[in-house]
Amino acid sequence: MTHELPELPFAKTALEPHISAETLQYHHGKHHAKYVSNLNELLLGTELELRSLEEIIQLASGKLFNNAAQVWNHTFYWNCLSPAGGGPPEGPLAAVLDQQFGSFDQLKQQFNDAAQSLFGSGWVWLVKDAAGNVSIEPMSNAGTPIRKGAVPLLTCDVWEHAYYIDYRHARPKYVDGFWRLVNWEFVARQYQAAAPG
Ligand code: MN
Repeated sequence: MTHELPELPFAKTALEPHISAETLQYHHGKHHAKYVSNLNELLLGTELELRSLEEIIQLASGKLFNNAAQVWNHTFYWNCLSPAGGGPPEGPLAAVLDQQFGSFDQLKQQFNDAAQSLFGSGWVWLVKDAAGNVSIEPMSNAGTPIRKGAVPLLTCDVWEHAYYIDYRHARPKYVDGFWRLVNWEFVARQYQAAAPG
């Protein structure tokens, strides 16, 4: 089975001014694309060749895990963003998040602190565990909650390639722009989903 680079769920200019078309051209067109081509090369002739991407993430290690998880994480990240997104969540999800974090502002503060203190490359996740509790999980490099059986709700890519063109070294400014794009409808759909495998 050959893995393919998914199309972005929006036009390349749609997230401006928070995330530029140039960033998307590199981040999706070069970085995400390279993880897909690396994954296909690494899988050739291995016993994981016919497995789904989610199964590969559960079973692989080393380079194969890194590339498979990066393929999955990036696709999820694009779905977390929308030109019609941003603002606070609404409806039942908002009630759950208020209950777990005190308020949306406190959730944002904790998430921003996690993004700022994650040393080097990685991802900040909002995840739901098997008991239904929601928490913020910073993960280095290609870390992904689906490896641990948790349900990812939202992610922010804090690899420098996600923001260097638009914000240079200023990760907090990028995360501020990220909040203006969060696709809460997508996040709410993930919250309704069952835990993976
Ligand atoms: Mn990335």
